[in-house]
Amino acid sequence: MITTRTIESIIPPPPPHFVGDGFRVHNFFPGQIAGGMKRTDPFLLLDYGSPHVFTPTIHRRGVDVHPHRGFETVTFAFKGSVAHRDNSGGGGIIGEGDIQWMTAGSGILHEEYHSDEFAETGGLFHMAQLWVNLPAKHKMTTPSYQAIENTSIPVYEGQKIEVSVIAGEYQGIKGVASTFTDIRMLLVQFEEGGEFDYEFPSSYTAIALNIEGEIGIQDHNFPTHHCALFANDGEKLSMKGMTSAKALILIGKPIREEIVAYGPFVMNTREEIAKAYEDYSTGLFGAL
Ligand code: MN
Repeated sequence: MITTRTIESIIPPPPPHFVGDGFRVHNFFPGQIAGGMKRTDPFLLLDYGSPHVFTPTIHRRGVDVHPHRGFETVTFAFKGSVAHRDNSGGGGIIGEGDIQWMTAGSGILHEEYHSDEFAETGGLFHMAQLWVNLPAKHKMTTPSYQAIENTSIPVYEGQKIEVSVIAGEYQGIKGVASTFTDIRMLLVQFEEGGEFDYEFPSSYTAIALNIEGEIGIQDHNFPTHHCALFANDGEKLSMKGMTSAKALILIGKPIREEIVAYGPFVMNTREEIAKAYEDYSTGLFGAL
């Protein structure tokens, strides 16, 4: 018998803060979820940039060169565009609807800015950045980069729903991203009354981010710009568009290893964090 997962919490956006001077974000987790990174395993952090109008500028707004080690960053540009450059040779523009999946692995240096084109015109900026953990055996993997263009993401067309399959599989459609652990990432576009169902193991972490419109989860209202954490009490996730709506669904098999996160590094032990700082300060991450 298949049971439907209940809601553990629906989290309103906390007050925003700026990352650098370009990314005005609400940190949904680890900050707002009891149990911290262990509860959202394999996901570590979700910064959500709700729609915000930036004025035109010739100044580069964003985050200057900084390192990462031991995990992946996934950047979503819903509105506006991000210019990215890293020292593994990755770089380019993350345009509207595009996703950048960066594997920091053994160590990367990168910068993240509004694109010049966006900065010059200004306008509405709407984005998210997710951090995905790597299991111990892959933390020191070679850094790499997947530039996922909007048009390359396969879409399932259902009854009043469209499901973009970013990672994992939905209705026989395979996602475009390659991942180190079992991650299912879907972007669901609802028409009013559209229903979305998805089955996967009850032990998996399941999180939804409402980026547009009003969504119903059982008898709960899941409002715009809120984040929902599902309990591990069923094999099926069910949502309904109460209006035209859009949700990002994040599902992952927990890695269940020790997590020691400090600044831009996420490792398994304090010694590995100390080593990351040492390697960074002695120039082993290279230069950008
Ligand atoms: Mn970064």
